[in-house]
Amino acid sequence: MQIPFSSKLVALSGVGKKTCEVLASAGFNTIGDLLWGLPYRYIDRGSIQTIATVNNQFLQSIDESIVVTLQGQITDFRQSTSRIQRMPLTEVLLQDDTDQIRLIWFNQSYLSKSMKKGDTLLVWGTLCIGRGGIEMRSPSWERITSKEETESSSIETTSMARFLPIYRRIATLSGKTRQKLIDMALRQIQSPPAILPLELSKYLPDATTALRLLHRPPDDSDPRDLDARQTPAHQRLATEELFAFALGIELRRKGIQNQQCQKILTSVELRNKLKSFLPFSLTTAQRTAFREIVQDLTSGSTMHRMLQGDVGSGKTLVAFLSMAMVAETGGQAALLVPTEVLAKQHFASFTKLLGGDSHRMQLLVGAMKTAEKRQAIERIANGQANYIIGTHSLFQESVSFFDLRLVVVDEQHRFGVKQREAIKDKGNAPHWLVMSATPIPRSLALALFGDLDQSILNELPPGRKPVRTCLYHTDSAESGWNIVEQELNKGHQVFVVSPAIDSSESLDHKRISLRDINNMEAYLRARFPDVPLAIVHGRLKTDELSIRMTEFLEGRARILLATTVIEVGVDVPNASAMVVDHAERFGLSQLHQLRGRIGRGKAGGTFIMISDRETERLQALTQTSDGFRIAQRDLEIRGPGEFFGARQSGLPRFQVADLFRDRQLLVKCRQVAAHEINKGLTPDQEAWLKQEQTRLRLAEIS
Ligand code: ADP
Ligand code: MG
Repeated sequence: MQIPFSSKLVALSGVGKKTCEVLASAGFNTIGDLLWGLPYRYIDRGSIQTIATVNNQFLQSIDESIVVTLQGQITDFRQSTSRIQRMPLTEVLLQDDTDQIRLIWFNQSYLSKSMKKGDTLLVWGTLCIGRGGIEMRSPSWERITSKEETESSSIETTSMARFLPIYRRIATLSGKTRQKLIDMALRQIQSPPAILPLELSKYLPDATTALRLLHRPPDDSDPRDLDARQTPAHQRLATEELFAFALGIELRRKGIQNQQCQKILTSVELRNKLKSFLPFSLTTAQRTAFREIVQDLTSGSTMHRMLQGDVGSGKTLVAFLSMAMVAETGGQAALLVPTEVLAKQHFASFTKLLGGDSHRMQLLVGAMKTAEKRQAIERIANGQANYIIGTHSLFQESVSFFDLRLVVVDEQHRFGVKQREAIKDKGNAPHWLVMSATPIPRSLALALFGDLDQSILNELPPGRKPVRTCLYHTDSAESGWNIVEQELNKGHQVFVVSPAIDSSESLDHKRISLRDINNMEAYLRARFPDVPLAIVHGRLKTDELSIRMTEFLEGRARILLATTVIEVGVDVPNASAMVVDHAERFGLSQLHQLRGRIGRGKAGGTFIMISDRETERLQALTQTSDGFRIAQRDLEIRGPGEFFGARQSGLPRFQVADLFRDRQLLVKCRQVAAHEINKGLTPDQEAWLKQEQTRLRLAEIS
């Protein structure tokens, strides 16, 4: 019997309820889910070495960076607690035909559930010298056979294949059971109808064949291609994912094209009014971007635009002017921001810009008192407020607008598509302007947000002093702190950023200790005993966070010690230096964003990174201040998932495709998708698209 991809896993003969539950807990519900769960790497059995060989080699070179792969049997398994750190230890003796070696894992007590004496284990990792000689610390591992299987010694044909696929572990499910399920699924699966147009599928295997090739690579596969995920089978699956994604964007673009709305009429009065608000003349880039926006607002169809610009390029002013276009012609414009601190800051700067007209503005944030909130909601509903600034609170059901015509989103972490729809529904096809806090390389922006028109601010306002950037090793960090001291003596303020570290991380397996925010606090209090300090981190309640931020904004605190919460655009002109400890824990773009927080005033600024690792990567920041170039570099190094951040809900969950590496392919998929949609999708394509959109979580993407 043949079964389709969409069938539930129980449909596989021989799969019990219990196994299904384990799989479901990891998000595997259908046969398709199981088959799309590809190995993350392959072990070439030809690369397995004997323990005697690697021991000898290590004794000669003492190179702690070479990764070796070993296979052997567990002859001893014990768990204890380390005496000094009180940390759970798992120790294993692994033996092959030639010798034995000690394996150690820290803090992984659950290992006793996954392996025991007698099991055959495949391990890979680096070597080092420990208490009892050469050992492997926290190696990756895969159980090949359990004790029982080893004893019954039935030779498995599958385990004789050259490439052993390694999967992300699902609870206690063994690699072998997983293999069996996959084999069964591959045997019973019904080949899906062809959905890729020929332009995209030429020279590539069909989907089922591709899946078969990746779960069971033939012995003559090229190990490098497999590891680089660049076999024709990988390309086939990547193309499927990108085509589904491209169809989604294309359909959305069609849906929003030519949406009619009320035209905004320009006039001399309006122009003069806007001019009267301006505290300084616009940069050329701001002028161009604003002209593009005005064209949209006066066109009679709804604007869908993204405003991109490097940190400090003056996006807020462009947003304000766009809002004024609407607000000064009788409509309402809302600015949506991710945090209350930022909302208040925008409110303060808008108050300055509006001068005598600031009563037409309304703030709405979660921390407001009930009476205050009620009044705010009333002023939004009856149209007394034209300029509205708020956080997620604006989405609440109780909020309705008098005449909402423009929504501007200052998207630090972008708002989800549902929230976006929620606020759109509160107006009549309101114009839509998204500001991107991180510059995104153009090709990627087009591929990802191709349903939005793009305006780019590629120039900083005049009079900005460039920020000096330095990188110090921990041993020489004192030079950095001396700079901080000088700045404090001049009356300036200083940011200090500590990475958020959870306690289990404070000692990792390589025993490199990380300074957390508490250690940094102790250091700062000792080093600068008379300087008032405010501390903010992610675990604070919002009002407490607000209070402490305000202390710093108003200058009562002169050092702000923070985890990355300050990344979100606070503007403190008097802050002239920033220290980032453990800079290696941040992405380049993130660091660039942080750097943008200083040098906003007349004093210029110094950006100080302290790090003992990855100094080559970090050096890039000392060489350029161009956010687009930094983003490009960051994407190359970390890939889009990390680049956009873990919190980011806005990325599809591709198994194979990589938005950065495959951006050319995505561009092609977009073209083909547009063409296919114009022709009309086939019922097979429609059904497939629906299934893929669920799998890739495309519906959640903004
Ligand atoms: P970002 O693009 O990072 O959001 P902001 O909008 O916060 O940048 O602007 C950064 C700073 O530059 C602000 O202090 C703002 O007042 C100032 N600024 C913006 N536009 C101009 C301009 N045309 N001339 C001078 N200063 C400007
Ligand atoms: Mg900003």
